[in-house]
Amino acid sequence: MAGKQLQAKCLCGGVRIDADIENQEVGACHCDICRRWAGGPFMAVEASENVVLAGTDLLGIYESSGWGERGFCTACGSTLFWRSKDAAHYAISAMAFDDLSEAVLTKQIFIDSKPDWYAFANETKSMTGAEFLAQFSSEEDKPNG
Ligand SMILES: [Zn+2]
Ligand SMILES: [Zn+2]
Repeated sequence: MAGKQLQAKCLCGGVRIDADIENQEVGACHCDICRRWAGGPFMAVEASENVVLAGTDLLGIYESSGWGERGFCTACGSTLFWRSKDAAHYAISAMAFDDLSEAVLTKQIFIDSKPDWYAFANETKSMTGAEFLAQFSSEEDKPNG
């Protein structure tokens, strides 16, 4: 199913992303890796089709696990996306989009890794890290790390 073609970019505009977003459901990840990397919970929308990157000379990729890597702008430092190593699946920062006006925060994962000093008031589904990872049968599929 083709979604809506949406544009995202980093702070300096050097790295740009066009992606087919099927739905504007935002998931927040509270895991230690995401929080350190994103400077807060990583809030992202899923994209697996027609993700086109431009300005890739400025794109930095950090391999954060055996199955995932994280994209950022090397000029301005913006957090841009998590993707599976095969680049088949992206979680693109909800904050990077020009217009995500239909967005709804629907899910929080690694809720057990969230520090006590903040909490979202939104009504969402919540999953612990173990609950989240249990959905995936093999190590390669794990969309975290
Ligand atoms: Zn930039
Ligand atoms: Zn995370």
